[in-house]
Amino acid sequence: MLRAPYPELDDLLEMMGEAGRHLADIEASEGAAGNISICLRWQMEPRTRFPVMDEIELPQPVPELAGATFLVTGSGRRLRELPDEPTASIACIVVDASGKGGKSYTSHQRRFERVTTEFNSHLAVHHDQICATNTNFHAVIHAQPVHLTYLSHIPRYQDEQYLNTHLLRWQPETIVNLPEGIGFIPFRIPSSPELMASNVESLRKHRIVIWAKHGVMARSDVSVKRAADRVEYAETAAKCEYLNLCAGEVGEGLSAAEIREICNTFNVQQTIF
Ligand SMILES: [Zn+2]
Repeated sequence: MLRAPYPELDDLLEMMGEAGRHLADIEASEGAAGNISICLRWQMEPRTRFPVMDEIELPQPVPELAGATFLVTGSGRRLRELPDEPTASIACIVVDASGKGGKSYTSHQRRFERVTTEFNSHLAVHHDQICATNTNFHAVIHAQPVHLTYLSHIPRYQDEQYLNTHLLRWQPETIVNLPEGIGFIPFRIPSSPELMASNVESLRKHRIVIWAKHGVMARSDVSVKRAADRVEYAETAAKCEYLNLCAGEVGEGLSAAEIREICNTFNVQQTIF
């Protein structure tokens, strides 16, 4: 939830750009992989940046989000290029009063036909979280960090308890930043209704979820950069785990008792250790 004064459209585009470029810098967005969306519920004039208007249908009806504004990356656009010319890669969608459709505002510089093919999952997660918490701001990122994705191919990491006890043991901050741990969804076809439903369910309990053999989805109700941080914390944990596997598992990791002590000291509620 954000308090006034709210960020301006240009500030939001800049933050999406910085998040996108950073995801590319940490090898979480090769080629045109990955996508970003934010939903905001205060009044915003999109036409200063996005003068071209089209009527669109939404992937699912979201009557509770009537009047809400989305900024969404376009299909096939590269996250690393977002800061150079944000309006070439981002669309602005304003939900109409029925919640079934809306107006899509884009720029004359736009270089995409449609918004990301994962928009169904983005919209469903925004809708579910906003209905649950009534936040006026929500950010969702899909990225493909190498080490998290690689570990999701190894059967024993497909168990949420095993995954979390092994990944959250390498740095004291990890449990503080991800106290609910990392969610895990078995492989689902990209853009499918099954992937969408699994995202909604898992992101109710977690701030980030692994899509097996594909990537991750992370959320934040504070900023898009906070959502990107969550991708980076989880990916750093996976990188340490991967290094340990390569080194013949000689690393100890923080013990369960040490992690519980960290949680007691910093008042972190968790049920993993
Ligand atoms: Zn993907």
